[in-house]
Amino acid sequence: MNFNSHTDAVVAIAVGLVNALTAGEARGRPYQPPVGEARAAAVADILSIGDRPAPAVAEAEADALAEVAGRLRGVFEAVARGDVDTAAYAVNALLAETDARPHLDRHDGEPWHLHFRGAGGTLSGNYAAGCATGLAVVLGSELHDRLGVCTAPHCDRVYVDTSRNGTRRFCSTACQNRVKTAAFRARGS
Ligand SMILES: [Zn+2]
Repeated sequence: MNFNSHTDAVVAIAVGLVNALTAGEARGRPYQPPVGEARAAAVADILSIGDRPAPAVAEAEADALAEVAGRLRGVFEAVARGDVDTAAYAVNALLAETDARPHLDRHDGEPWHLHFRGAGGTLSGNYAAGCATGLAVVLGSELHDRLGVCTAPHCDRVYVDTSRNGTRRFCSTACQNRVKTAAFRARGS
């Protein structure tokens, strides 16, 4: 995706939060998200996407982001079933609830760039606002159908399709290979 590097980063973080923090199935197996300390560690890992330094994440912040991740999942699921209206209403509700507001920031030797923050000034509030804004930018663009849910059997992990022609169907090469192998076996029998 090429909106700008910050939008790409928060959209990648939204994908990471949904996939790590929502229960379901992942690559052929039931998936239960981590809790407590392990959840906080998983969130710190996701927020360090793109070589950012991993922030300190309190368990309460990770719990708040797990709740946000459930809401974000609904956006991916709505787009995946072709219901962009529901996705847009859900994102608008998140933007309002997080009180997302633009804020020019300059840090780590980067030039001034646009961040979106929540009103409360908490880590979870800021990332909730950032993820909501990132998905709003995607839904408001011609690439609005690029949010997806894995179509492999027994997998519901989400992805953003950044391929040129928009033909991605799987969360990972692991799922792509599972489906290919199954198709190969089916042909051979
Ligand atoms: Zn998958």
